[in-house]
Amino acid sequence: MRFPIGEVAHARVVASVEIPELPTAPVHDPANHSEVVGDFTLTPPEVIDAVVRSAKDAGVAWGALTYAERASHLAAAATAMEHEPAQRVRAMTLEQGKPLWESQLDVVGAARLLRYYADFAQQLDDEQYIEDERGVTVIRRRPIGPTAIIVPWNYPVYLCLMGMAPALLAGNPVIVKPSELAPLALTAVLRTIAEALPAGVVNVVPGWGAETGAALTSHPDVRKIVFTGGTATGRSVLHAAADRITSVSLELGGNDPAIVLTDAAMDEEMMRELRQSVFTCAGQVCFNVKRIYVARDRYDEFVEAFTKAASEIAVGPGMHPGTTMGPLNNAQQLAFVSSLVDGLAGTDATVTVVGTAVDPDSWDDGYFMLPHIVTNVDPYEALVTCEQFGPVIPIIPFDSEDQVIAWANDTEFGLAASVWSRDIDAALRVGRRIEAGSVFVNSHRVGSSDMSMPFGGMKQSGLGRNHGIWAIDECSELQSLSYRPNTSVFPGPHILPDPSVYLTDDERRALTGADDG
Ligand code: NAD
Repeated sequence: MRFPIGEVAHARVVASVEIPELPTAPVHDPANHSEVVGDFTLTPPEVIDAVVRSAKDAGVAWGALTYAERASHLAAAATAMEHEPAQRVRAMTLEQGKPLWESQLDVVGAARLLRYYADFAQQLDDEQYIEDERGVTVIRRRPIGPTAIIVPWNYPVYLCLMGMAPALLAGNPVIVKPSELAPLALTAVLRTIAEALPAGVVNVVPGWGAETGAALTSHPDVRKIVFTGGTATGRSVLHAAADRITSVSLELGGNDPAIVLTDAAMDEEMMRELRQSVFTCAGQVCFNVKRIYVARDRYDEFVEAFTKAASEIAVGPGMHPGTTMGPLNNAQQLAFVSSLVDGLAGTDATVTVVGTAVDPDSWDDGYFMLPHIVTNVDPYEALVTCEQFGPVIPIIPFDSEDQVIAWANDTEFGLAASVWSRDIDAALRVGRRIEAGSVFVNSHRVGSSDMSMPFGGMKQSGLGRNHGIWAIDECSELQSLSYRPNTSVFPGPHILPDPSVYLTDDERRALTGADDG
């Protein structure tokens, strides 16, 4: 199904420089992979160079504005973005695979995020002052400079804005590299934002990651990289940044545990919430629940209730009104998740496949997979220890808090986690011991981490924190500008200081061996 509107079907370079005719590559529908739903330009290094240099020029005036002035531009961009989002929501479903309501969450949630940062400017001072007897020091945040925003395919619009909105408010021009697997809706949204801001402040360079992405991260004028994606790619971005000591924020993968304590509610509401935590976007969210640990005395009850809730999932094309879970995004992801299930053959694990197929005749053409619930599985099976990023969930019983906390923390990931309990003391006690950037109690889904809370990973799940003031600080350089009314207030190198200010005579003699006589 191609789009009736050309703009959404084409992810082309967005910039204030003249762009030559460029080669393109197709974008396929994950629900019907022979269907091309649009295309994106392959931006070569020389165009990236021109775009970054033009962004740098545009950044001079943008960076000189006050927070309030930049905020009024962002508010105008948010208003433009809120206008008629339907085409972009549709584009998102056709390229990404998720149902329309989830695409709406992505696109509309991103507009809210932009508005949040426009409003956030009211909480920011352009300068702060420290005054003492020696004079005054002005503390100011300065923009870092041209900022590369590199985006994954699962929640492209929201995740782009999560890095881009604070970068813009902090005064940086941005150059966005969308994922080659979902560039259409994002580029359409960014074109709208770019038109609402001064020319050259928002730029988009579609292309393959290893070429366009790498050319961007190694560009000498890129001063900041905000990367969201897999841990392996994050590592190569960090290597590229090392050459020029470029500032980097990384939002990487996760293997989030959900810990169900013995006094958890286990009612329908909790099961609905956990179902959402596991199967949103067919399991392809960085902070979806990826392993569930349940107190042994409630294990059977939990498995039965959760299986019942998951059985209500209807898997099909995201455009189908009856679909509650779409396909996986791409062939590689489907093959990887399937290989984890295949790896359970010959072990004691029990795999229960649940849910129903919407329009099963079309399944051969899409990357569909029903929800899989895996019980009786070894706690160190690959499915449990890696980031599966798909609709396959292991459920493991535990015997003590110490045991489950050890399992939860025995991973190189540390993005988020959840504890499910009606006992707030127990939940907080367990939560405090978990090595994760966010710990939720009785929730764990897209939206659990509000824009006002810091969000980001520990260990190999990332570097830095998003949301609120923390994201502004990630995209700013702190500068102190000290004013002294006269030079004598501070002993500079031209003044021979009185040694007694620093050392007693005994100390000086002990250090230098000097004899005062
Ligand atoms: P990915 O790492 O394959 O790609 C992410 C982006 O990096 C894409 O735009 C890609 O084109 C680009 N890229 C690839 N190679 C590059 C290179 N050498 N230099 C620069 N850019 C390059 O990730 P993905 O498959 O798109 O997304 C899935 C992963 O992202 C999962 O691991 C998921 O957990 C993670 N993720 C993390 C968060 C978070 O907030 N922590 C959010 C969403 C997704």
